[in-house]
Amino acid sequence: MRKIQMVDTKNQYLAIKKEVDGAIQEVLDSAAYINGKAVKDFAQNLSTYLGVGHVIPCANGTDALQIAMMALDLQPGDEIITPSFTYIATTEVVALLGLKPVFIDVDPISFCMDIESLKKAITPKTKVIVPVHLYGHAAPMEEIMEIAKANNLLVIEDNAQAIGCDYTFSNGVTKKTGTIGHIGATSFYPSKNLGAFGDGGALCTNDKALSDKMTMIANHGQSARYYHDVVGCNSRLDSIQAAILNIKLKKLDSYNAARQSVAKYYSDSFASFKEIITPSSLQYSSHVYHQYTIQLIGVNRDRFIEHLASKEIPCMIYYPVPGHLQKMFIEQKNINWNLPITDKLTSCVCSLPVHTEMDEEQLAYIVKGVKSFFK
Ligand SMILES: *Cc1c(COP(=O)(O)O)cnc(C)c1O
Repeated sequence: MRKIQMVDTKNQYLAIKKEVDGAIQEVLDSAAYINGKAVKDFAQNLSTYLGVGHVIPCANGTDALQIAMMALDLQPGDEIITPSFTYIATTEVVALLGLKPVFIDVDPISFCMDIESLKKAITPKTKVIVPVHLYGHAAPMEEIMEIAKANNLLVIEDNAQAIGCDYTFSNGVTKKTGTIGHIGATSFYPSKNLGAFGDGGALCTNDKALSDKMTMIANHGQSARYYHDVVGCNSRLDSIQAAILNIKLKKLDSYNAARQSVAKYYSDSFASFKEIITPSSLQYSSHVYHQYTIQLIGVNRDRFIEHLASKEIPCMIYYPVPGHLQKMFIEQKNINWNLPITDKLTSCVCSLPVHTEMDEEQLAYIVKGVKSFFK
């Protein structure tokens, strides 16, 4: 049996090696390493795939979030509402820009922003809502957009874990996550559902003015060569990564389908275990399983992880410390955040391996390993 890994980027590469190697060679031959044809093609291809007006490639997903926030004319101290239960990048950029993160709780089924918690967190200083489509499941965008509209707020979707996920509105219209808010930010970190062979990220929007502004910010605030109108940064997707992403974007739907079948195998296998809550999706969202995350009920999680490790089955806790308890935000330690679902999930979640290259033998072995802990 092949060694089990949380992600298997090596075998995913080998399956498309010829195409990828050819595309990289093409970039090398062109010597257009920065902003070459592959980058422009990728922006076009991704906007077609997502059904969004504008795509701005950038260096990574964290930069994408930062550039999005820089484009919104915010003032120091403005409040940005985000779930506490997310990867640190979401909230780190808020603090970096001198803005104030306001942490809210999540829904226990979707693991995404909880609507009641959101409503309660809005103050006169609130400017932006940042929903995170965690683990590959969409946040409740229809309600979030209604609340944003009623309160004159802007919405930046953190789509780093959910590229390809479909959101269905109550009128039956379906859109891709990342294209519903004012801005969507995503990441092409190698382990993401659409992963480069290095760092990469992108912004998307249907707003031409925002698109122009973010393009400018990502390029040193430059309006014309050597004329810098606003403070920006240097954030580029390089041509080699774009060339790879052009190939992998064509496979994204089949990659997501492979993840879904792994998830189905696990969920069917664990259905009768009362100690395991398997992930499920709410009616409005598809699930692209960036992670397959179970909740362990009445189980000593450390011992569970040790048991799997003894069988060389990797697993991970995403995330062991929620945002509101990170030392980085220590100045807010006296706030009584009261995020019971977040606190509970932090103590009971466990993500099992899910990727595009898993075979039946590995899956059966993992399921057997998990089950053997309980008998
Ligand atoms: C990966 C990730 C990011 C950051 O992306 P990078 O490309 O690593 O900078 C942001 N938010 C979430 C939810 C992520 O999972």
